Amino acid sequence: MNIYNLTREELEEYFISHDSKKFHANQLFSWLYEKRISSIFEVTDIKKEMLEQLSLDFSFSKLDLVQVERDIDVCKYLFELSDGEHIEAVLMKHDYGNSVCISSQVGCNMGCKFCESGRRKKVRNLETWEMVTQLLMIEEDLKARVSHVVVMGIGEPFDNYDNLLRFFQIINHPKGLAIGARHITVSTCGIVPKILEFSHFPLQINLAISLHAPNDKLRNQIMPINRAYPLKELLPALEEYLKRTNRRITFEYIMLAGINDTDECAKELVKLVGHLNCYINLIPYNETNNLEFKRSSTVQIMRFYDILKKNRLNVTIRREFGSKISAACGQLRSKKEEI
Ligand code: SAH
Repeated sequence: MNIYNLTREELEEYFISHDSKKFHANQLFSWLYEKRISSIFEVTDIKKEMLEQLSLDFSFSKLDLVQVERDIDVCKYLFELSDGEHIEAVLMKHDYGNSVCISSQVGCNMGCKFCESGRRKKVRNLETWEMVTQLLMIEEDLKARVSHVVVMGIGEPFDNYDNLLRFFQIINHPKGLAIGARHITVSTCGIVPKILEFSHFPLQINLAISLHAPNDKLRNQIMPINRAYPLKELLPALEEYLKRTNRRITFEYIMLAGINDTDECAKELVKLVGHLNCYINLIPYNETNNLEFKRSSTVQIMRFYDILKKNRLNVTIRREFGSKISAACGQLRSKKEEI
């Protein structure tokens, strides 16, 4: 077991079960996440025997950072896992802080037609520690704190739900990485039962939904998950989520030329989500060599934006990072592995 898998509460249980003191959990958290020790024997306020036990029970290793591509306001990190698989994370430097987009799985089973990550089937879920240490390694490289986290890299986070929730608890904990829940966002393609479950999760983490189409016919074509959870199930689940949490959701909408970017689509989108407390984030599609989709023209993106705005939706166009360094969505890993 890797030590970065454990929430503070789980560590407390560990210490109690070893006839030791519960408060060691807080101390160890601060050694791991504030002082950033690389060996358990650097700890000075826990008894030697207990440290030896910890060193027998846990691994303290982090991921292997194998490649970094750097641009002015964006860095792309490629990590190698112990089984030889690769995952990526992206750091975006905003004026409000450093935001990191992390991966949640190796590969992805959702099969969205436009997405590079989905070209490779899911190999496995990432363990909690593999998500946590993406952030630790990036902070180390950056020599600064990460202030915002988005789970929008490779994988479907709600298909790795339990590990994801432990990841949130660790990075949000004041003795952990102390990243405010409102600075954390998870994005899902729309796994309805998990959305409902997530509405009970006590941390106020932002929810984003990859919508990408305003009707079932189109959404079925580009996002196979829509056959399992069509809009008539997704929308009521989101309404329920909004009612229970009293928060706002974000809809992501990739602009694909000639497919989902018409004026009619914009009007349908207004009808579909206009009554919800939401933001719409229009995403200029990042073209890849391997897939036939094209990005919408800037003119069409603006027309689409205007239609939503006129109908009083909260809409923004996503600022683009990293198209030069293949930062988008699974591209670095697929270059590395040439698939
Ligand atoms: N599986 C989750 C999170 C990972 S995908 C989800 O579906 O939300 C994160 C976001 O990137 C999704 O909105 C996805 O549709 C989008 N995306 C995938 N490929 C893209 C590309 N080439 N250009 C722009 N956005 C892309």
